[in-house]
Amino acid sequence: MNLDDYRGILVFAEQREGEIQNVGLELLGKAKELASEINEEVTAILLGYQVEHLSKELISYGADKVVVVDKEELKFYDTEAYAQAFSSVIKDKKSEIVLVGATTIGRDLGPRVSARVVTGLTADCTKLEISEERELLMTRPAFGGNLMATIICPDHRPQMSTVRPGVMQKFSKDEARTGEVEKFDVEFDKSKMKVKIIEIIKEEKEKIDITEANVLISGGRGVGSADNFKKLEGLAEEIGGTVSASRAIIDSGWIDHDRQVGQTGKTVRPDIYFALGISGAIQHVAGMEESEYIIAINKDKGAPIFNISDLGIVGDVSKIVPMITEEIKLLKSQKS
Ligand SMILES: Cc1cc2nc3c(=O)[nH]c(=O)nc-3n(C[C@H](O)[C@H](O)[C@H](O)COP(=O)(O)OP(=O)(O)OC[C@H]3O[C@@H](n4cnc5c(N)ncnc54)[C@H](O)[C@@H]3O)c2cc1C
Repeated sequence: MNLDDYRGILVFAEQREGEIQNVGLELLGKAKELASEINEEVTAILLGYQVEHLSKELISYGADKVVVVDKEELKFYDTEAYAQAFSSVIKDKKSEIVLVGATTIGRDLGPRVSARVVTGLTADCTKLEISEERELLMTRPAFGGNLMATIICPDHRPQMSTVRPGVMQKFSKDEARTGEVEKFDVEFDKSKMKVKIIEIIKEEKEKIDITEANVLISGGRGVGSADNFKKLEGLAEEIGGTVSASRAIIDSGWIDHDRQVGQTGKTVRPDIYFALGISGAIQHVAGMEESEYIIAINKDKGAPIFNISDLGIVGDVSKIVPMITEEIKLLKSQKS
């Protein structure tokens, strides 16, 4: 394999029901940064049915080029159809780097494709850099987050990585940007397509996306009980925030898994993060340390959360939270 034959960065622009997923836009932002270091272009790959119009959005978020495979077989996510289309594009474009969001779809698709194009894949990366030798340094937490592993793929191309949603940052949208759109045709091998989608059932309850919240009120084991945990909603309501939690709370079943912050939950970056009765275990911190302003309340002054908090209060959550809530209420009523 002549490594020099492989050029450019390819980003999988995951869309669901005609909506580009945030992680795709975040990856475009990161890809732009990497591309400028190696002087290459960023191409977004868009798979779906009647999705070509989404190319514009990808260009406005940084794609120099969009390769669209618009086929009825790609209307819903199907591992085989998507893997066939994706690997055809990679083989044709001879990309140097391929980035995929580590969503449920990306985690399913990435390994399939890397096996088909016979290259290495690093899963669930949280940091990507280019080395002096022009190699992609792919860093990810390993061994439950106790070790950061930086992995390279020296002998094969493309260098593939799935990347955690929420870690990379989008570029600001620029509608004036221009780029090229290429329609790419794929001849599917239908004999390999064994999955038939009978029905897609959506969860009925309202989905809360903690990664989009500006203020997060996050509770941990120190909150004490399910009843106390419910009371955090009061503070959230007063301050216009959203409630999230450490894994200890998810494990206790007090709130759904989609509210979990951390390495096996979501990575968040709100303007204000309240860490209430959270010790600050490395697996939790990995998901929130980039928050703009961190307020920690913990009765143990030696709790590691205080090492990363901007404001720390040593005391009992069950006493302090109602006091803060009342104070905010009062301030708001004085203002109005
Ligand atoms: C592979 C792996 C992945 C993991 N992924 C995640 C993850 O994604 N997210 C995550 O959060 N964890 C994760 N964990 C678990 C993590 O290691 C910790 O166990 C967890 O974060 C602890 O949650 P906690 O801070 O709520 O509880 P604890 O560590 O028990 O801390 C409770 C804190 O509350 C304080 N406290 C007690 N009572 C009060 C009170 N009345 N007022 C004020 N403070 C009080 C205590 O001093 C303590 O600091 C993972 C672990 C592993 C092994």
